[in-house]
Amino acid sequence: MSWIEYKTRTGSILCDRERTLECLYVGDYGKENNIKADFLGLHDKIESVQHRPVDLTDKMVVTISTQKGCSMACKFCDCPSVPFAGNCSRSEMFDMTLEAIQRSGVSETKRFNLHFARMGEPTFNWDVLQFAMNDLRLLVAHQIRADTIHPVISTMMPKANTRLMDFLENWCWIKNHSYDGEAGLQLSINTLCEFDRNEMFNGRSLSLMDISTLSWMLPKPVGRKYTLNFAVTGASDLDPDKMDIYFDKKKFIIKITPIHATRAATDNGFEIVKDYDVYERFEKPLVNHGWDVIVFAPSAEEDADRITCGNAILKSGDDQMITGGDATKTLSELKADLAAIDANIARGEQAKTGGLHAAATD
Ligand code: SF4
Repeated sequence: MSWIEYKTRTGSILCDRERTLECLYVGDYGKENNIKADFLGLHDKIESVQHRPVDLTDKMVVTISTQKGCSMACKFCDCPSVPFAGNCSRSEMFDMTLEAIQRSGVSETKRFNLHFARMGEPTFNWDVLQFAMNDLRLLVAHQIRADTIHPVISTMMPKANTRLMDFLENWCWIKNHSYDGEAGLQLSINTLCEFDRNEMFNGRSLSLMDISTLSWMLPKPVGRKYTLNFAVTGASDLDPDKMDIYFDKKKFIIKITPIHATRAATDNGFEIVKDYDVYERFEKPLVNHGWDVIVFAPSAEEDADRITCGNAILKSGDDQMITGGDATKTLSELKADLAAIDANIARGEQAKTGGLHAAATD
């Protein structure tokens, strides 16, 4: 077992090249800094999201892979460029979570989020259900004092998964009953234009009509509603009349985010929305139609550090490139860079160095 840790400005990305595993832990800027959601009382327009020090004892997000690479080939995502090697086992998901917690050095946090969202489409891996149901809470309780443990599944609703509804029903039972509502389910929709969706998801996601049919069959959520995720470009279709036909606003909230600046998204010419007025243009009509809407935007640093969804650095040689041209530096030089960044952050200054920094190997 050999983990490589890439220090980012809000946490670390961890890779085990031998086993094709990749996960990360990060802190969060706080919802008043990167979220607008009228229904949660967060009314301030997001003008820009500034990098600032994060506090892992307040909230810690661990994101793990459910597969090694991904066979779904979404055009905005880097995961398909990692040679596909099947599902992560239950014990590998355990290892990723354990490694992330231990590397964080944190002994307590108010909120521990576990996102099944690094590499892979989680609904193909039934060990995800076993892990969330039987392992996660015990593992966290052994390692860290967490007031809340909140696992989240994100799915692009793959056409090829003949047991998709089965999986979703099981996950909803875990969310609604095993976790008493304290868990999440996100469906990646991105746009209500069928043609553009097919392009983005390479024809591998179900049609909107099929997703709609399945969504009406999901049980009523306990606690938080389920989420319809829209990673948008300026040209996305979020027409509220269509939204009302496809989805039930009593069951779902809408989350609007940018498509993240992955290599694939950039190479395939997706617009990375930087103009925050675009979000407002989508948000207002939906709110006027009675939808609960969250607008979430990352900072430029989070995108550059490749912690956001759709990134994977395990692609052959990519982990060398992400040192931002510093691949020729020795480990001690990289550690010195890292210490300088940490010192800057400790002084409350914005770290100026771009890219990621290899912190240690073992
Ligand atoms: S977005 Fe998810 S399902 Fe699509 S290629 Fe990436 S990891 Fe796979």
